[in-house]
Amino acid sequence: MNDSYGRTIHYLRISLTDRCNLRCVYCMPADARFAPSAHLLSDAELVRLVRLAASVGFDRVRLTGGEPTVHPRLVQLVGAMAQIPGMQEIALTTNALQLEKLAEPLARAGLKRVNISLDSLDAERFARMTRGGNLDQVWRGILAAERAGLTPIKLNAVIVRGYNENDLADLARLTLEHAWAMRFIEMMPLGSIADFQMDAVVPVAEMRARIEATLGALEPLAWDGHDPARMYRLRGGRGTLGFISSVTEPFCAGCERMRLSADGKLRLCLLRDAEVDLLTPLRAGATDAELGALIADGIRAKPWGHGLAQREIAGSRIMSQIGG
Ligand code: SAM
Ligand code: SF4
Repeated sequence: MNDSYGRTIHYLRISLTDRCNLRCVYCMPADARFAPSAHLLSDAELVRLVRLAASVGFDRVRLTGGEPTVHPRLVQLVGAMAQIPGMQEIALTTNALQLEKLAEPLARAGLKRVNISLDSLDAERFARMTRGGNLDQVWRGILAAERAGLTPIKLNAVIVRGYNENDLADLARLTLEHAWAMRFIEMMPLGSIADFQMDAVVPVAEMRARIEATLGALEPLAWDGHDPARMYRLRGGRGTLGFISSVTEPFCAGCERMRLSADGKLRLCLLRDAEVDLLTPLRAGATDAELGALIADGIRAKPWGHGLAQREIAGSRIMSQIGG
């Protein structure tokens, strides 16, 4: 289905939970508080909404969070979503702490691909950024995902000044040896930690320059017009490098996505607060047709773009609550 600007909206990112087993500095405060589970969609409610979303044209789903692998029934949920008519692809974004044991069962349930957060290859800096993450455990998760065929593996690093800007070249170097897509993300200011985030943004132009200073010129690759990442390759590299720059080079014209939060709100743009409440009508007994119409209304009301460059900051939620 098209929005009012002619963009075809068919990709739904679902935040399964706002909870997480890490506390990355760019994502949530150290003392993050979480929504009570009664306010969150049950498994049956979620699968029903995804089925209705599929009926209005969504054919790709990405499960995210918070940390989707802390959901106790993730494998069953993937299995249920993979059965939905019209659903072409279920993917996952995860910190990979649980992937060593979950990669294989998830692949068997119908998961196709994973994106994994990896902000540093230095164990101490990784632990500092994630407030306690174990790099070895993440690495084992990445290899398990590759063995399970959850490929192409995409790795995401949010670059934060004062934390990991000196890791750029080491992370980029991974693509010489591995056929992975390493993606560098400009930090976005959101919600209650926006001030810290705004001060520590590293623009993608600087990221590219730092990598080129160590590893030589990046070769640009063709862009499909929708992928938020602008793609490059290191000379002789097996994998690719992507740069995602919501702040300095927004990509709203190619946007095909909307988000569903764990508390049942359809979020029309990551960086705007406009939302459609699906949970309340669902619990009040709305029919499939009524809920489907609300989703379709949400698509039509999708805003054109965001105002980050003008320092307009969406303040109602942090990333883990929206589904980054
Ligand atoms: N826990 C999973 C993970 O870390 O991959 C999934 C949820 S996390 C919110 C999804 C993505 O959002 C991750 O790649 C994370 O690095 C990114 N992210 C979180 N906060 C961000 C911010 N302020 N700016 C840009 N990206 C952010
Ligand atoms: Fe958790 Fe992912 Fe946010 Fe890090 S980025 S705190 S792993 S939800």
